[in-house]
Order: sequence, then structure tokens, then C-alpha cells
Amino acid sequence: MSKTSKCSLQSSVCDDITNGTVFVTDRAKIPETNLDMNLVGKELCRHHYNKLIVNENYRLMKVAK
Ligand SMILES: [Zn+2]
Repeated sequence: MSKTSKCSLQSSVCDDITNGTVFVTDRAKIPETNLDMNLVGKELCRHHYNKLIVNENYRLMKVAK
């Protein structure tokens, strides 16, 4: 089993792959604000996964209240 362990978003801040990467499946809850980034099927570092999915979902959830 090969793993690329590489963030799909090539950015200077991708220094977090030591903790592994997260493969975004179509079951992931992509925030509607980031749907146009086509994140499904991509491998993200923890930094971007948290930033684009976890934190954004949290932000939207707070806004909705
Ligand atoms: Zn990244």
C-alpha cells in the first residue's frame, strides 16, 4: 500500500504532513463555502484539512445560530 503523504494544496504552509494526510472522501462534510474547491478525492495535510473543513464547518455552525 503506497501513500503519497502529500498535500494536494501545494502551499508554503504545508509543513504539517508529519502527522499524515487526510483523504477527503465524498462522505466528508465539505462546507458549502469551500465546495468550489473540489476537495473530494484530494489528500490534505492536517493544516489544510482543519482550516478548510473542520474550522470552516465550525465557523458556519456558529454563524447559523
Ligand atoms: Zn496543506
